[in-house]
Amino acid sequence: MKKLFYIFFLLIFSFAQGIELKNVGIAKYAVLEVNQDRTPLRDNYNEDAKRLSHLFKDTVLFADKQTDKYYRVELEPKKYAWINKEFVEVQGIIPEKRFEGIQKLIFKTEKDNYELKIITPQKSAYTLTEDNDNLKFNLFDNRFDPIEAKITNLSGRFRLSNKFEDELKIDFNNDKKLFGYGIKATEEGYILNIKRPPKINKKRPLKGIKVVIDPGHGGCEKGAVAFGLEEKNINLQISKILRKELKKRGAKVYMTRKKDKQVPLYSRVDFALEKNADILLSIHQNSLPNPKDVNKKHGVGTYYYHNQSKPLAASIQKRLLEATGFMDDKVNNRSFALTRPSEQLSVLIECGYLIYKPEADKLIDKKFQKMIAQAIVKGCEDCLRENY
Ligand SMILES: [Zn+2]
Repeated sequence: MKKLFYIFFLLIFSFAQGIELKNVGIAKYAVLEVNQDRTPLRDNYNEDAKRLSHLFKDTVLFADKQTDKYYRVELEPKKYAWINKEFVEVQGIIPEKRFEGIQKLIFKTEKDNYELKIITPQKSAYTLTEDNDNLKFNLFDNRFDPIEAKITNLSGRFRLSNKFEDELKIDFNNDKKLFGYGIKATEEGYILNIKRPPKINKKRPLKGIKVVIDPGHGGCEKGAVAFGLEEKNINLQISKILRKELKKRGAKVYMTRKKDKQVPLYSRVDFALEKNADILLSIHQNSLPNPKDVNKKHGVGTYYYHNQSKPLAASIQKRLLEATGFMDDKVNNRSFALTRPSEQLSVLIECGYLIYKPEADKLIDKKFQKMIAQAIVKGCEDCLRENY
């Protein structure tokens, strides 16, 4: 009892000091519980660090070290991740990791998707990583015993490959490029969903494809402002033409806003999820923190985050460069709220720089806007035709 008290005191002391938590006697881990959805799990202890995944509320983690702002979480021996202290509550200190197990794995192959239901009483950390056209799913801190756990319909593209007993590792082998994947938390555990690319009609590649258009900003969020112009209005104008052009090619189109109103970023993301979108296009006009730099840096740029969205970004960029004659502001890998969704191909397009007069003059021109919209449509078609 005395010894336990001593350990407890030392741990509280080291936590309070904000110094690194060291192994003290037998005690080792702080048990953390995530306090909100979409909590980033990072590969390092700063805000620029790469996001490994987004955790759900109530996820349980085990921290072994800390900085002032971050806890270090051990995912497997010698494999670590970091989580901002704002997003977790400390539940206690324990000498050894304690966790529940996986009870069932239920695999399903549907017409439109592959699904894996993971039944477990405990939400634990996961990562979902693209490896070329394949996907690797790891669920950490969750005891997996292939003999004890009930496994239904394991076949086809999924492969169980366990390294550790306290981890579930599943590889998904795809035959085409990935076309969207995601994980949901449920009462019972998790559902992993991987979309099957639709059969593409080579003449009308967009036929039946669900596209969500997101006209950036809106309402009191004006976006870039220059020469008496507001970005939000141009975004909406181009988006409306884009909707018409996409519909002509047989796509099913939804818009996150149809008029000048404020829409929170994550409502836009949720909207695309709700519509089960295949493609998410966020439409913007660019600016720079220092407007003087615009003589050197301007033009059209396209952004993606997950590798599966890169071919789409590249083909849209190619068509936009041809159509606009603008400078190439490149295909960029960037973490934005609207590029991060993995459930569909997600791309953000900066049609030009509103703060650069020669481009601004064109971006407000109706005919030019139509050219932009048509170029985006062609980019989508090229990507679908060539990759799926
Ligand atoms: Zn913008």
